Amino acid sequence: MAILVVGSVAFDTIETPHGKREKILGGAATHFSLAASYFTPVRVIAVVGEDFLAEHEAVFTRRGIDTRGIERAPGLSFHWTGAYAGTLNEAETLGTELNVFEKFEPKIPVAYQDSEYLFLANIDPVLQAQVRSQMRNVRMVCGDTMNYWIKDHSSNLAKVLRELDVLLINDGEARMLSGESNAVRAAAKVLSMGPKSLVVKHGEYGATAFFCNRSFAGVDDPSPFRAPALPLAEVVDPTGAGDSFAGGFYGYIASQPKLTPAVFRRAMFYGGVMGSFAVERFGIERLQDVSREEINERFNLFREISHLGDEEI
Ligand code: AMP
Repeated sequence: MAILVVGSVAFDTIETPHGKREKILGGAATHFSLAASYFTPVRVIAVVGEDFLAEHEAVFTRRGIDTRGIERAPGLSFHWTGAYAGTLNEAETLGTELNVFEKFEPKIPVAYQDSEYLFLANIDPVLQAQVRSQMRNVRMVCGDTMNYWIKDHSSNLAKVLRELDVLLINDGEARMLSGESNAVRAAAKVLSMGPKSLVVKHGEYGATAFFCNRSFAGVDDPSPFRAPALPLAEVVDPTGAGDSFAGGFYGYIASQPKLTPAVFRRAMFYGGVMGSFAVERFGIERLQDVSREEINERFNLFREISHLGDEEI
């Protein structure tokens, strides 16, 4: 089942304790699509500038990702500059140049209109809402956002939140969106804004799913569910880990016939698997070239580290 994703396709300038890279291919939709492409067909809606070359498009097409919805416009592509100083868990944004995204009006190609799953990756909530309104018949809608949009675009974001089955954000974003520092109270407040469930990503510590009281995905019990992250000896560049988590999570869900509580829980693990690949090298270097065997191997490692045998209870 195909996922349609709208979000940033960008060039990133990144500094981490392991080095610096200038204007490498990145963007929320890019990381998401690559991660999801290992599970299900992916179609992208975005805009890029004249600096987006055939070699950049090939990163998508090599993974079978449909790029017909990537529009080209005069000017430069979105450019994000970020650094990870003290903690590798959260980026410090040093610059956000929206460039061609400033005047973007998303249009859905006819060939995309039968997409059953919609992902509103990190981008201006106005654009997320425009795509959502053109895709009324999808089976499921998931979305992401970040502090940049939470801070100054909150009323536009509020409209998007009401439309979501799952919102995926990190700890800092959950605190900022809710104004609550306690994780449980923050989750309850975010859920009261509309999403049927909330996945809070804790960087190297895994992710927690919270559910609203309405029945969703066959989940009648609203207790939270926590999936661990794989302890990694070396994190080179955390950029895109969150989007890759979302790609693994949603890609797995879209590959399954039905969303059940077990599928949701397994999807949290596949999210962790794809996030763990993303951080091993700069940008998309690792994510563009993973094998199915490596994914399965890592999924099994995740299962092993979370296993609590009955005999120990
Ligand atoms: P994350 O998965 O949270 O590390 O996402 C990193 C990606 O988000 C980078 O590749 C950036 O290009 C992209 N990004 C950064 N800021 C924004 C923004 N304000 N809107 C959309 N995308 C962004």
